[in-house]
Amino acid sequence: MAVPPEQTSDRELRSRHSHEPKSEWIVAHAVASPTRLLILLLSLAALWGGAFFGYEALQPGPKVGSGSLPADVAFQASKLSPATLDALATLRATATELPAPGPGDWLSEHRESGQTFQQYVTGSPTLPRGRRRFLCVAPLGPFTQPEEALLDETCAYLERYFGLEVRRLDPIPLPLDGGGDDGLPASAVRLTGRGFGPQVRSEWVLQKVLRPRLPDDAAVLIGFTARDLWPGRGWNFVFGQADLRRRVGVWSLARLGDPAGDEAERGMLLRRTLQVATHETGHMLGMRHCIAFACNMNGSNHLAESDSRPLDLCPTCTAKLVWATDVRLGERSRALAAWRAKRQL
Ligand SMILES: [Zn+2]
Ligand SMILES: [Zn+2]
Repeated sequence: MAVPPEQTSDRELRSRHSHEPKSEWIVAHAVASPTRLLILLLSLAALWGGAFFGYEALQPGPKVGSGSLPADVAFQASKLSPATLDALATLRATATELPAPGPGDWLSEHRESGQTFQQYVTGSPTLPRGRRRFLCVAPLGPFTQPEEALLDETCAYLERYFGLEVRRLDPIPLPLDGGGDDGLPASAVRLTGRGFGPQVRSEWVLQKVLRPRLPDDAAVLIGFTARDLWPGRGWNFVFGQADLRRRVGVWSLARLGDPAGDEAERGMLLRRTLQVATHETGHMLGMRHCIAFACNMNGSNHLAESDSRPLDLCPTCTAKLVWATDVRLGERSRALAAWRAKRQL
């Protein structure tokens, strides 16, 4: 059903991953607006040729199905150490099958073919290798004290999750009045917003704020902001957006919960923030959505669905992580378990 421009649709509200290709959503709206038709054409081009448009492009590959494929496990044996293979075998023995999607869930609305370990390795993913070994994080715009604490926690967690050093860049102010070197032009700000305060155009942040600041030694540069984001005309909001080729991404905390809320609310916000940060950083390191097991890299169409996902990776995605980062699984498990236990996650 077509929805008038700038009006919130159910589908949009349910959309957990607005940075990802949403061809169904775009097709449903393309008839009403030349802009949306352009977005559709660009998105189809992105699906064909990669993520130049900034949205994640998931190219179809062979169907993976549920669980690890024996041939893929055999390929893992050619790329990973015996200790890692033992740890992965233990993980596989206790891995949880991905539940069948319900109405409105991600896999009910998006056809995905998954990504085996071999497809990942042979797909030339962005790797933290050589000089480019840091996960760089840039705080964008104002943060309240509770939001600042959330960012600290997220950086500490990212470091343990990926086994890579996180480097915080200096905060970037993003003033909304257009003043100063970092002032946003009028075209990059929507002061009226959509219920979560003034919005900043995510594409502008990627290309004009983050790309020029991408450090030489960064594997990826992730911008975090408490501002609400939107990708451009005809859209209400996005949770985040990434340019996978240029290794920059931006994610918003605005819709994940209230950092000044009660303990339960803050706990939920922390979990969601950690989940978004690790899921999206996984994408930036070349991991596609997982359909092999219940996994942090499963796609989610709405917050209730993502809240049901595990924080950790399945055996197949863990194998990708180890190959990409050389993290030691035993040390990683212990560090994550201790960190989560302290925060009751
Ligand atoms: Zn995703
Ligand atoms: Zn997985």
